[in-house]
Amino acid sequence: MASLSLKHIYKVYPNGAKAVNDFTMDIEDKEFIVFVGPSGCGKSTTLRMIAGLEDITAGELKIGDLVVNDVEPKDRDIAMVFQNYALYPHMTVFENIAFGLRLRKMPREEINRRVKEAAEILGITDYLGRKPKEMSGGQRQRVSLGRAIVREPKVMLLDEPLSNLDAKLRTQMRSEIAKLHKKLGTTFIYVTHDQIEAMTMGTRIVVMKDGFVQQIDTPKNLYNYPGNKFVAGFIGTPQMNFFEGTLKKVGDFVEVAFKYTDAKVIVPYSYFYKTRPSYLNGETNVIIGLRAENVSLDPETVAKSNATIKVKISHKEELGNETLIYGDINMEGDGYTESSTRIIIKSLAEIEYNAGDVVTAALDLDHVHLFDAESEVSILPRIPEFNYLDCEVQNGSVAFLGVKAELPPAIECESGVGELLIPTDAIKLGGDITARVLGVENIQGRKLLSMELGGRRIFAVVEEDVTTPEVNISLDMKKITILRDGAEVVSPMPEKVSFDGRFVKKKVVENVPETEAERAKRLKKEKKHAPAPAPVQSEEGEAEVAVPAEPVEEEPIVTKPKKVIKFSLDIEDAEFNAPEEIAQKLIAALTIKRVFDKKYRYECTPYDLTIGETGIAAKVEAVLDYGTERFAKCAVGDKTVYVKLDDNNIPTPGTDIRLLPEIDKLAIIQADMDIRLV
Ligand code: ADP
Repeated sequence: MASLSLKHIYKVYPNGAKAVNDFTMDIEDKEFIVFVGPSGCGKSTTLRMIAGLEDITAGELKIGDLVVNDVEPKDRDIAMVFQNYALYPHMTVFENIAFGLRLRKMPREEINRRVKEAAEILGITDYLGRKPKEMSGGQRQRVSLGRAIVREPKVMLLDEPLSNLDAKLRTQMRSEIAKLHKKLGTTFIYVTHDQIEAMTMGTRIVVMKDGFVQQIDTPKNLYNYPGNKFVAGFIGTPQMNFFEGTLKKVGDFVEVAFKYTDAKVIVPYSYFYKTRPSYLNGETNVIIGLRAENVSLDPETVAKSNATIKVKISHKEELGNETLIYGDINMEGDGYTESSTRIIIKSLAEIEYNAGDVVTAALDLDHVHLFDAESEVSILPRIPEFNYLDCEVQNGSVAFLGVKAELPPAIECESGVGELLIPTDAIKLGGDITARVLGVENIQGRKLLSMELGGRRIFAVVEEDVTTPEVNISLDMKKITILRDGAEVVSPMPEKVSFDGRFVKKKVVENVPETEAERAKRLKKEKKHAPAPAPVQSEEGEAEVAVPAEPVEEEPIVTKPKKVIKFSLDIEDAEFNAPEEIAQKLIAALTIKRVFDKKYRYECTPYDLTIGETGIAAKVEAVLDYGTERFAKCAVGDKTVYVKLDDNNIPTPGTDIRLLPEIDKLAIIQADMDIRLV
């Protein structure tokens, strides 16, 4: 039993193929994690890196508390089950299961006990004397599971174990593996390309595409809150309907228009509180997603709905308990080809339709999904990024939702009306704005607080538990944006500072303390030449008395000049010694050909920089006073960086200063390949 931690894991194959990018996740003890995605998305590579069958190019893998990047597969306390069973054909089932234990020289009785117990769990006790060829695929896969179980591993890794089985057996084995997981109480990591397998077995699922993690969540959340169009389309059958469209805010309502058709529905703006207003201008293309079960042809539902569209039916698929009805919302469309007007509707089996019928369908917009047309990222996210509000700036303060907040000296803005963007993480508890608490949702370890202020719902991501009916809040002013006619008149302070540089390896001559061997040799030589010690004269009668010992002069450390290899971080032409741990990580990434003298990017936050005597040369352009905190806006070469200031050391604009980054806090990215190494 063990937890696992994967931090910024990358895999670049020697041929340059980047199979896995920045894979980061914590897996808890006893979880059943499924990696799912289309072929080639990097799921097997990730599993093989956990098993130790592939080197990790960059990043840190921990099993329990131990970093195992360089630990041999056999010492990782894991067991792996493969798609092709990998059984020895000439051995019996018993021998196949016992083989690994025999190699470990386990006592015979213990082997017998473990094999028998595993065989019982898997229901193959009667087959222990058979050879693999005398068994079915399902039975063979049980044997290979048995071989993994008897090792009592901390982590079970399964790579498409059911792919070779027929559909019926796959369904049966699915529940058996789920049961096995419960019984063993071991952490399972399971790879499959089959979303149904993933949805039915995983406690959490990692959806991957092209080497990138798309989303990590529970099956239910992936289904209800897909973070992008890929996940929305990959999870669930039939695939979610996707339509191209536009959204237009008109007063307290939003017009949802479906492209290539006359279809239009009008819904309250409250549905779109989590969406950026720039999507609500009636022009920006969006993708509207609705699952087949969220469209209804039921006459009663249609009669009650105020979001209906016309559908021309083309054909249907009877599935017994339900019917999938295919149609088009474009009256010219054929409903057969996948297009941005084709629609699939789940309906009760009894309802009869004929091809060519035009019917009215009700859309359940409580379950609508919206995606950016280009990036395909959800624009109706579960945790919104911002609150979008109308505001008015008046003489150094900003009024919104019936309250007023003082603007700090750092924010200069002419009076007038505009839009205020408050990031959800910029609303802090404590302050003089009182809001009514509507609820707190725990989402992936983050707390989303919903509040009512001035008749509108606003959101904040908070650390603390909120149990009171009201809260006092304030804004982190360095994070807000004010827009006027769509243009930013107040911009947030960037949260990240980025420098260019290199990682340098140098041979230098240094005075290094002599080694033990060198010391011994020197002492021997010195002894040879040293004068004999003078005889000690003791006074009569005092021989027994202890004489306080003369303080022994400590031998000075003798150093010798030697050539040593030094690693340093060259950041914007300033050199910093690379601490051992960082140097090790960078060198470990040597598999990505030539770590040295490549372009690197160093990233940190304004809080990780201080002003020093030495360091990166910078010129102070301005001091930004945000009330409780002050920052220096500096020019470093052609870059702008921000530095959190110590209140006792406020530089004057125009002065040259030096910046010291906290080396431990730096993210180090190899720029050419965009790989985060530290
Ligand atoms: P999946 O398991 O999701 O099907 P893999 O992890 O096997 O995907 O592969 C991910 C990517 O890495 C693919 O593009 C594949 O071609 C590439 N790849 C896998 N193994 C190697 C290898 N040994 N050498 C080079 N490229 C590889």
